[in-house]
Amino acid sequence: MSLTSRLILGACLLVVLTVLLHARWGNDELYLAIPLAVLFGTIAGRSIAGHLAALRDSARALSEGLPPRLPDTGMSEIAAVAQAIRQTDRELADRFAELRREKAEAMAIVDAMMEGVIAADSRGRTVLANRAARELLGYGPWAPLPDLATLFRVKAAQEAVAAVLAGRPLHDHEVDLDGRVVLINARPLNERGAVLVLHDLTEVRRLEEVRRDFVANVSHELKTPLTSISGYAETLAGPEMDEATRRCFVATILSNTQRMIRLVDDLLDLSRIEGGRWNLSRVQVDLAALVGESWEELSGKAAARQVHFALECSPKTVRAFVDPDALRQILGNLFDNALRYVPDAGHVTFRARYQDGGVMTSVSDDGIGIAAEHLPRIFERFYRVDPSRSRDAGGTGLGLSIVRRMVEAHGGRVNAESAPREGTTIFCWFPDAPSEDSATS
Ligand code: ADP
Repeated sequence: MSLTSRLILGACLLVVLTVLLHARWGNDELYLAIPLAVLFGTIAGRSIAGHLAALRDSARALSEGLPPRLPDTGMSEIAAVAQAIRQTDRELADRFAELRREKAEAMAIVDAMMEGVIAADSRGRTVLANRAARELLGYGPWAPLPDLATLFRVKAAQEAVAAVLAGRPLHDHEVDLDGRVVLINARPLNERGAVLVLHDLTEVRRLEEVRRDFVANVSHELKTPLTSISGYAETLAGPEMDEATRRCFVATILSNTQRMIRLVDDLLDLSRIEGGRWNLSRVQVDLAALVGESWEELSGKAAARQVHFALECSPKTVRAFVDPDALRQILGNLFDNALRYVPDAGHVTFRARYQDGGVMTSVSDDGIGIAAEHLPRIFERFYRVDPSRSRDAGGTGLGLSIVRRMVEAHGGRVNAESAPREGTTIFCWFPDAPSEDSATS
């Protein structure tokens, strides 16, 4: 029943009561109605005040994010207000849930970024640092973060942060954070907080250095034969010389030209593999047959120096899932090296066996071997243990790096074992065909 109806009803009751009293006892007794009216008014007032206080408490609870405890009343005005509060509570809960979801999504995006992101509030407290920023600065995922001013441990970075906190933006400011090259971009916020974005440039700088070294190496490798060709050509163009000297000069020019052709061929192969332009067409290959063919190409050189070759496959027929052309090139490079570094009457052995879901091959020789400090680097481009010996023997310094790239393009891996004056073994492991391929082959 509504509050108005209750009060009207109360007034009506009072009138009826007064009329009845007047009819029964005359005018004087009418005074009895007054205390009754006061009693009725007090009860009604208390009841209304109690409900209003409950509504006030509910509104307060709502503002504090607590669930409202609304009065259960028959008064329609109070019930309507309670219903409105309940509705507001539900809408607020939905909006907060939505906000929490959006915030979690935004945090997930910031956390997944490759760049480090750091935010500080107006008091310089670090309020956000994503996964990349924590990794760069050496803080664990849950480690508490100090204020922005002391977050970086390197002085140059601290000075940059101080400038941002003083309100100056930073553009592409490069700092060295304990061996890592980091580019900082930062912007002060309106309320004097700041946002920093960190790019890790270490890998980019390393690749730039590799490229510079590579260009320097190639230039050097080409310059030596070119200088030699130019010198001999100039002499040939000069005054008459005897036939034997002329032939000798021409032979030197020819050998330097061939060396440059070998180098350019190796460079082209390397660039095709590294640029992903060498499309491997893998098939099941009987290794014994292909190895025999590859050795045959060098057999003249081997026979001239009485180098013995052995082939040991276990079982007798080992089939590998490889690109035959790539494998020919791999074997050519490995046999070429072995022949170059074995003494006369030395031994070269090719072995193959099934291992770890693939085929393990090895080329061993009993040549000069490689000292332990050089072994980890022999697969690098242009790395040579003895540069002048390698050049004199016609090496380009690229053979093993081509082998490594080719084996890796098959999904395989390479490895070397060696002992000085005992010999060297280069291992290449090739994985089997994926199950659907082997089913069709
Ligand atoms: P290179 O054209 O100089 O042979 P590689 O990349 O094929 O270049 O080999 C790199 C270096 O590894 C060689 O210069 C040589 O010092 C060493 N090396 C490679 N294979 C052998 C081997 N079988 N015995 C001894 N040293 C080797």
